[in-house]
Amino acid sequence: MEKKVTIVGAGLVGSLLSIYLAKKGYHVNIFERRPDMRATQMSAGKSINLALSDRGWRGLAGVGIADEIKKIAIPMYGRFIHHKDGSNAYQPYGKDKQAIYSVSRADINMKLMDLAEKQKNVKIHFDKRCTAVNRNDLKASFEDNNTKQQTETQSDLLFGADGAFAASRLSVQLQADRFEYNQHYIDCGYKELIIPPGEGGKFQLEENALHIWPRGSFMMIALPNPDGNFTCTLFLPFEGEKSFSKLTTDADIKQFFEREFADAVPFMPTLLQDFKQNPVSSLVTVKCFPWTFDNKIALIGDAAHAIVPFYGQGMNCGFEDCVVLNELIDKHKENWDLILPEYQSLRKPDSDAIADLAIANFVEMRDKTADPKFLLQKKIEARFSEKHPEKWIPLYSMVTYSPHIRYSTAMKEGAKQQAIMDKIMALPDIENKWSSIEVENEILKYV
Ligand SMILES: Cc1cc2nc3c(=O)[nH]c(=O)nc-3n(C[C@H](O)[C@H](O)[C@H](O)COP(=O)(O)OP(=O)(O)OC[C@H]3O[C@@H](n4cnc5c(N)ncnc54)[C@H](O)[C@@H]3O)c2cc1C
Repeated sequence: MEKKVTIVGAGLVGSLLSIYLAKKGYHVNIFERRPDMRATQMSAGKSINLALSDRGWRGLAGVGIADEIKKIAIPMYGRFIHHKDGSNAYQPYGKDKQAIYSVSRADINMKLMDLAEKQKNVKIHFDKRCTAVNRNDLKASFEDNNTKQQTETQSDLLFGADGAFAASRLSVQLQADRFEYNQHYIDCGYKELIIPPGEGGKFQLEENALHIWPRGSFMMIALPNPDGNFTCTLFLPFEGEKSFSKLTTDADIKQFFEREFADAVPFMPTLLQDFKQNPVSSLVTVKCFPWTFDNKIALIGDAAHAIVPFYGQGMNCGFEDCVVLNELIDKHKENWDLILPEYQSLRKPDSDAIADLAIANFVEMRDKTADPKFLLQKKIEARFSEKHPEKWIPLYSMVTYSPHIRYSTAMKEGAKQQAIMDKIMALPDIENKWSSIEVENEILKYV
């Protein structure tokens, strides 16, 4: 008999998961709190762009939809750094035109919903907010946004894919013994701004790059959109000398941008209006355990592991959850008593690793991308890796372009590499002899 699955949340991961399960023959009902975003206007200031990289592409390719998503994605081949003095620098992400791809979160979500609904055995129910999940009988309750009517559904399996503040997680947590839960907010918030297209719809900055204005304790980034816009995100402390709390008047805002991001301001005609209108949002890491209950309920995506966005991996990691789950369904021939325990034991260390790497990358992006010593270290690593690719894959490449290397392995390798580079960077006169055979041989001693 066809197995019935409930998924809570038609976000990026819930929608993709439904396609994987439908292709295996499961009958899937998704319950989504929001109205159908394809039929309603998105609220202002929520136009987040995401960087899609190889782990995410692998997740999409696994159900044959990567080409559809490529149509709405723009390749970014490197970081374009805007220094405070007006100079800039381009740092390619990898070799051979390796790229990460800019996609609008709303566009990819809508596309995934379309593709999910193309499966005859997937139905998305909108405006249905999950209020409870009962572990004993696998019944889930939903309240209709408009009528406030309660409905209940029962299925053979249930996935909580309802994001960082998942109601499904909270509900099962309250019925679990020894549920580990850790939630950490960083002291920075973020605000979305915009660089509209110039004359004739042209991009006003280099199109195929991720733009960064690193400023030590804060930064702004900009990602391209297919219509010629850039979505900018300002990451800034909530409190302190340079913080959102200090930007209260038009004059404060103007002065701050003119001082810190002078080269961007001429391209931001609606800056003041956008700044005042768009909200400041917070950034959270959520770690929890277990992710699975009675081998019938599982958390997936941000509901299991919300991370800060500085490695561009939250969605990619969630898509990888789907890939791993799919492999385990095949491996264990749909025996969920084996699938779910292995799913959580494989994914938990990996999601913990990328959560920690993402926090570390915050410091790297806002601070170190402007530091000459750090840039020299990256140059040495890139050169060594090019000459000895079998001995050294840079951490960024392991995370971003090597979907077969687990996040937890990448993190351990990255720590070893950093210890080696600490020794190399301490060599006398490294600034002048960084490309010498002596430095290469020194690294070879350790790898
Ligand atoms: C500023 C920012 C930048 C980011 N940049 C990147 C990036 O560059 N690359 C990357 O890979 N990731 C990035 N991320 C992370 C990425 O957005 C998330 O990891 C991804 O959206 C997680 O998908 P999800 O489906 O698990 O959760 P979500 O996308 O949050 O979807 C959850 C869904 O559940 C629904 N829902 C919530 N509560 C209920 C309920 N009670 N009942 C029913 N439905 C409910 C929500 O409405 C939503 O549709 C970024 C995040 C932020 C905030």
